[in-house]
Amino acid sequence: MSEKHELSRDHFGLYIGGEWREASGGQTLDAENPATGDPLAQIADATKEDVDAAAAAARAAFAGWAEKPVAERSQAMLDIADLIEENLQYLATVESLDNGKPIRETSAADVPLAVDHFRYFAGCMRADEGAATMLDPNTLNIILREPLGVIGQIVPWNFPFLMGAWKLAPALVAGNTVVFKPSSATSLSILELARLIDEAGILPKGVLNVVTGSGSRAGDYLQKADVDKLAFTGSTEVGRQIALAAAEKIIPATLELGGKSANVFFDDADPEVAVNGVQMGILFNQGQVCSAGSRIFIQQKVLDDFMNRLTESFAAVKMGDPLDPATEMGAQINVSQLEKIVGYVDVGREEGARIAVGGKRATEGALAKGAFMEPTLMVGTNDMRVAQEEIFGPVGVVIPFKDEDEVVEMANNSPYGLGGGVFSRSLERAIRVATRVRTGRIWVNQYNAFPAGAPFGGYKESGIGRETHKMILDAYQQTKNILVNLSGSPAGLPFAK
Ligand code: NDP
Repeated sequence: MSEKHELSRDHFGLYIGGEWREASGGQTLDAENPATGDPLAQIADATKEDVDAAAAAARAAFAGWAEKPVAERSQAMLDIADLIEENLQYLATVESLDNGKPIRETSAADVPLAVDHFRYFAGCMRADEGAATMLDPNTLNIILREPLGVIGQIVPWNFPFLMGAWKLAPALVAGNTVVFKPSSATSLSILELARLIDEAGILPKGVLNVVTGSGSRAGDYLQKADVDKLAFTGSTEVGRQIALAAAEKIIPATLELGGKSANVFFDDADPEVAVNGVQMGILFNQGQVCSAGSRIFIQQKVLDDFMNRLTESFAAVKMGDPLDPATEMGAQINVSQLEKIVGYVDVGREEGARIAVGGKRATEGALAKGAFMEPTLMVGTNDMRVAQEEIFGPVGVVIPFKDEDEVVEMANNSPYGLGGGVFSRSLERAIRVATRVRTGRIWVNQYNAFPAGAPFGGYKESGIGRETHKMILDAYQQTKNILVNLSGSPAGLPFAK
């Protein structure tokens, strides 16, 4: 398993007001390598006082940042993009060490996509036009968009760096300041980004603040802190608490939550494209993807042939050291998440599902030290718990179907609506099915692609709001209307003479 890789430091403080400081309570948490179980570094465990100090620093920096010319704020995003690109290999390595995901993913997807999101939002903001209309010959209607103020952002551990970019780029370029809380399981890549930005002097002090610590403490303090908006990605359960905290303060919240997405394979799908679609759906990022194609609907006629291809391809997936460029699947985030996944396989068995491939913790050779899970498929029905609850691991439930109406009904039978896929050589059928499935994103003949410019977010319990598209800029701004009387005469009834 991977030899020691040098991080820039092994102890990370809090980044508040442009300074690094220890948590005021002196507490730290351990960051661990999920592929080996070895300690990686220590992070600060922020207290309420620390989180409030970060919100105050962001508040103090707000007016100066909001007043900067749009061109300057956009340039700052472009500078951050360049900085990430210059440090791509290092940041990809940090992400793989801290999260357990393979370097071929972090260096080809997570980090380059983050670069592109900073560039995309820099461009969107420059092209943002606002609006002014004449409502009648004497009334000018000016619609201005202004930043909201201080944004509290909380992200989970599955895409720590990329989700950082999804949230930071639009918030900052729109003129807001940010207090950012990564997951305590994966704080290192964003802390390293903050260090690089700080060393390069790209942002004024206090514009970006990073507080680390557990969700139940630092996260809870942040949702209650003096912020003007909350932006959250994570479980539906915590998302609900964030929505309540926002309601209490009458501030907006955007929420990207869980999913149990339907990946639908018709009998005319290209087999090679389809097998890749199942793998991308449920094995990408070790299955720890909110939009994972975890319910795999296969048309009855091709079930046997397709299952043969799938079991063969799942058994051949190369698991191992995340830092080995040949590794296709790395480690789950930690052993307790792995145990939850294995527990779900047991639940499936008890419910009568048949395990077609995988089903156990992988313990061969060096894998034994880490949190590795075999790529797993079980064949079951849509009403089983394993087909209704989010497993968040490389475990897909295959569900046979007869025809289009039946599969659409089953696909929609879920409390979630985040992702989904349709595989068919008939685009007419694929698009018809895509429009009938109640979900925020549906891929056709591909899965789990996340380009900037394509809006991503959920229907139903999968959340509120759309990221990775310029429309999220609306959610980081508020509208001011200036209504001008151009007539030179009094205009207000009933007092106008
Ligand atoms: P959680 O909701 O537990 O955690 C997400 C983030 O919230 C983490 O930073 C966590 O901190 C923090 N947090 C936890 N409790 C609180 C709290 N009471 N108040 C404020 N913040 C809190 O999700 P997981 O980390 O367990 O991630 C897995 C779940 O998230 C899955 O259900 C998955 O579907 C969903 N998810 C959704 C995504 C989407 O884009 N829709 C993306 C990724 C995950 P800490 O980790 O330090 O405890």
